[in-house]
Amino acid sequence: MSLYSANAIVLYHQDLGDADKIITLMSREYGKIKAVARGVKRPRNRLIGGTQLFTYSEFLLFKGRQLDNISQCQIKESFFRIRDDFKKLAYTSYMAELVNEFVPEKQKNEEVFFLFLKTLYWILKNDDIELITRFFEIKLLLLTGILPYMDSCINCKASLDDEVEIYFKPSEGGFVCSNCCSIRENNLQIQKGTLNLLKFLSEIKYEQLDLVKLTPNLIQELEKILRICIANYLEKKLKSLTFLDKIKL
Ligand SMILES: [Zn+2]
Repeated sequence: MSLYSANAIVLYHQDLGDADKIITLMSREYGKIKAVARGVKRPRNRLIGGTQLFTYSEFLLFKGRQLDNISQCQIKESFFRIRDDFKKLAYTSYMAELVNEFVPEKQKNEEVFFLFLKTLYWILKNDDIELITRFFEIKLLLLTGILPYMDSCINCKASLDDEVEIYFKPSEGGFVCSNCCSIRENNLQIQKGTLNLLKFLSEIKYEQLDLVKLTPNLIQELEKILRICIANYLEKKLKSLTFLDKIKL
């Protein structure tokens, strides 16, 4: 079968010559796909609308020797309001890069597909993009199986519920109790509230996110921990994160 259809979200695009682009898609049916959109840089090309960043479309593709080609696309949701908002665009680009990095090509992953799609709809309706980003990171780490274990110390297995002081150990990406925290290591002391918040966010759905009220230091600690987990897993810093840090200043 050389022609196939896929429901997919545009994660990323890059130029290919004067007229074409390579589009990276996160599809429901086949996972991540890289496909060529021929002539898309020319005005009035029929693929322009459906290949904008974050647009959710039904694509008709045909298999190529190296990359597949986009034949047609029918827009389901353009998410243009996300692209129109500079802050939302920057944060959503970061989340799209995470999907791009976490999901291997042509491996179906409906859970990540639906997580990202739901996140896009949530971003359209809500302005707390920092909280949405943290929530997305937590759910992505959970689906990938790399969210830190939160109930007990990763070293001695003592319950963290009874601990007054809790530390995060970057080298192992996990929480330790005060007995297992060596001063020679670069451990982060974290507030109990941050651990409880992480636990709570990992258990709830988007619909319950309205209940969450955060103080700036809780969200900052959470961000630090999640960044370490992501960097440990990917073994690199993301391009969009460097940009995000610049616009935060
Ligand atoms: Zn311990």
